[in-house]
Parts: sequence; structure tokens; C-alpha cells
Amino acid sequence: MFDPIRLLKDMVAIPSVNPMGRDLTGEEYFETKLSAYLADLFRREGIPFEAVAVAPGRTNILAKCEQPGSPITVLLDAHQDTVPVDGMIIPPYEPRVEGGRLYGRGSCDIKGGGAAMLAAFLRLVKEQPKNRANVVLSLTVDEESTSLGINHLVEQMTSGRSVYKFLPKPPDISVVAEPTLLDIVVAHRGAVRWQIHTSGRACHSSRPQDGINAIYRMAKLVSALEEFAAKLPGSKPAHRLCGPATLSVGLINGGLSVNVVPDHCVIDIDRRVIPREVSESVIADVFNYLTSKVDFEFTFDPPFICSPALDDDLNGPWSDVMLKSIAKSVGPKTKIGVAYGTHASRIAAAGHPAFVFGPGDIAQAHTKDEWVEIEQVRQAAEIYFQFCCDAAAGC
Ligand SMILES: [Zn+2]
Repeated sequence: MFDPIRLLKDMVAIPSVNPMGRDLTGEEYFETKLSAYLADLFRREGIPFEAVAVAPGRTNILAKCEQPGSPITVLLDAHQDTVPVDGMIIPPYEPRVEGGRLYGRGSCDIKGGGAAMLAAFLRLVKEQPKNRANVVLSLTVDEESTSLGINHLVEQMTSGRSVYKFLPKPPDISVVAEPTLLDIVVAHRGAVRWQIHTSGRACHSSRPQDGINAIYRMAKLVSALEEFAAKLPGSKPAHRLCGPATLSVGLINGGLSVNVVPDHCVIDIDRRVIPREVSESVIADVFNYLTSKVDFEFTFDPPFICSPALDDDLNGPWSDVMLKSIAKSVGPKTKIGVAYGTHASRIAAAGHPAFVFGPGDIAQAHTKDEWVEIEQVRQAAEIYFQFCCDAAAGC
């Protein structure tokens, strides 16, 4: 029952693909089947759990292992969804073990970490070690797209009237599963994404002098953005763990047909933020720069993604406790910063300590032959268990 690899095989065999905003339907999409598997498992084991739908068919599953008298609550969080399977060169939902690796969609990101958390949690319930913290396990939805699951959880647990009975208030420390090679991610960058529009005046392309070409205008903005992006790393100090702030233009769209002078063009901007950067001022900096460079009007949409960076200002003492838990199981590891975002920054942005820890290498996440090292999944299960005991003493 507590074998994390058995749990992982079950989880990989149950598709939970995030359609990533595309209009896709079918059995493999959304987390419905995996949520049902988790609910069944807790029901069978007689473990208290709750299922909270945050959108139709999208349900956060929480379970609790209570330790009466302990003032400390640890949240173990892993997301249920995976990225799509387009282009994969292995059967995505047929977990296969070979050469010490388990292959399949989600094995690395983050069903390996989720299975390790689940195994640790089931072992806590079974063994009831004396000195342990209260432990809440949350298996949340939609991490890969718009973070519906964690946003709902954070909003509720900080509201003073939480619909989650296991999290009436924020936990003392949250451990978020993502592939970290068993190091502790104490800081990471965030992302702000938004669209910029230019307008023009359409006319027949045989008389372009009668119109205003929105694509030419956008080209000027894009050149200015390229300059801005090149100067950005030098314009503010890089974070010691996460590196510099960056900006990239990722999409462009405009025009109706080749014989019409286009009256509209739009681009999508990806601005990676480092700890302490505030999305409003980041966007304002870009706006002011562009205004100084061009003499026509353009418009900024409100951001469609606003994912904060994770700062290491809150999680220091707790990550020290984790370093000791890791050392007991696998020897010394380090605190690191990474470029990718996680649920931890959503929790930390609400003022509550969180760090990221899990088996697997981010280099294998989302790949065409995704895999995770089995030994690391087992080690992670041991370390999560150990931390839930070590954390009982506080930090
Ligand atoms: Zn992930």
C-alpha cells in the first residue's frame, strides 16, 4: 500500500491532461479520473478526506493526518494535472520500468513527487509516529495552466472562513512537490504575461498610402522591446539564486489578408520576474519605455498570467529543518533557486512560508519520453515522512 512506485504506476496509468486553455474534450482531459482514484483510495483506507470542486470537473482533494496537541501543521502539496501528450514517443499512459527509471506522462512532473507524498502520508497514518506535526495533503488541479486549484486553496485558507475544513487557516509550512533532484528550491522566478495591441486604418493594399499599417507600428514596438530586453539584465541586480529578470516576445498576430492594409496587430509578452519585483511596476516600466520610443498609440491588456516569484525571505528556518531531514536519508543537499514557477510562490505571496522539494529533474518534465528515477521517488517518500516528524518541533 505504501510503495510509492506502485502508487506512481497507478497515477501514470490514469490520464489527467490539462488542455491548457484549448477546447478539448475526452476521457484523458482534466483531473476527474485521478481525483476519483484518490478519493477511492482514502475512502478504502478510512482516511478523512475532502473533495472541493473549484470548477466543473476539477476537484482539489485534501486528506488530513491529525496529531492532537501539535501546534504545527505541515501542508504537502502536489498537482494532479500533466501537460498534453502531443509528440510523445512512448505510450504516455502505460507506465514502464526500465534501467531504474519509470517512463510515462507525468512520471517526473509531478506524479513521482505526488506518489512520494501520498506514500509518506499513508505511512504517517499507519505508523502514527509519536512526534509528528499535523499533516494535510493537498492534491490540487490546474497547475500547468491557470493555477485554479492552488489559487482557490490559498484564497480560502487565508479568508478566515475557509471552505476547506482541513485548512481553516494557513499551515505553518508548505512543501510543494516539483522536480528538484532532491535539492530544496527556496527561490524561483515568476512570470507576468500580457498582450500589447497596435491599431491602424485598413484600406486596399493597392493604395497603402491611404491607410495606417498596424503591423508596421507593431514592428517598431517589437524592435523597441528587443532593445529593452537586451538592457534589462543590466538594469537591475540579478537575484543571487534565480538570476536576472528577462523579457521575451513570444507571439504575434495581425492582418486579415495580403491585399488589405492591416488595422490591428497584437503580441504576447513574457516577462520573468525575480523576487521583490511587483507586476504593476514591471508592466509600467515597459509602457514608459515604449512611450518614449514611438509617437503613436498602443494599448496594454491586463495581464493574463501574473505569477509571483518565490522569495527566500520566509522559508529559511523551515528549509534548514528540511536540510536535516534530507541529510538523515540521502546525505547533504543544498538550497537552490530555479527559473521555473511553482505553487510555492502563490502560498508565499499570501505571507506563508513555502519551499519546493521533489524527485526527478526538471529537464525531463514535459518531454517526449518523460521519466523519473525510481530510487529518487523512494528517497523523496522517506524524506517527506521524516520532515513531517522533524517539523513537529517547529523551526
Ligand atoms: Zn509540475
